[in-house]
Amino acid sequence: MGMHLNTSINYKARAICKLADTFSRLQISGMSSAKLTEHYVAVIQSLERCPEWVRAYVKGWYDATKSMYERDLVFFYTMPDGSLVSTHRDRDDYYEKLGIGPKEVYDKAVASGHYWVREQYDNGVKKEKLVPYFVSRMEKVGTCSFCKAEHVKLIYRLKADPDQKVCVICHQDARVPTEYIPPEIIE
Ligand SMILES: [Zn+2]
Repeated sequence: MGMHLNTSINYKARAICKLADTFSRLQISGMSSAKLTEHYVAVIQSLERCPEWVRAYVKGWYDATKSMYERDLVFFYTMPDGSLVSTHRDRDDYYEKLGIGPKEVYDKAVASGHYWVREQYDNGVKKEKLVPYFVSRMEKVGTCSFCKAEHVKLIYRLKADPDQKVCVICHQDARVPTEYIPPEIIE
């Protein structure tokens, strides 16, 4: 036991260097949150033999750097036709500029999440490309397939028939076996 202090410091420096390299490619490569986590886990695993303070230091550095980079992400809702609408007032795809109200956008959206906005040139014309970072399906509002209540959140489903989404009241009824529908992550 007991790694030499200099060795620990070297391990720490190499780990930060590897992560810094990953972060430098984050936006340009349009990396997903899952992929970033994968890189981080691999780096932390390479510190297995190091004292705890090395991993704690690297984790702290990673968390701080990650939140700094995540400030560049833009939030979008996915509409049923697949189009993306933004919640940023200064963008052309801001939902109110497209004539969609705040309640409508929330009720109709099928997914929501954060995207990298990359600029690229297509025949000399600057174009934006939106690359998903972390996107999940949204909890839907609709009619309960069991009690037929309208405009209820459908975050549960019948165990016997998972296609049948039910409301929270039906979920609480012990005679109707139901389960929570976990939000689906879209890569
Ligand atoms: Zn119901």
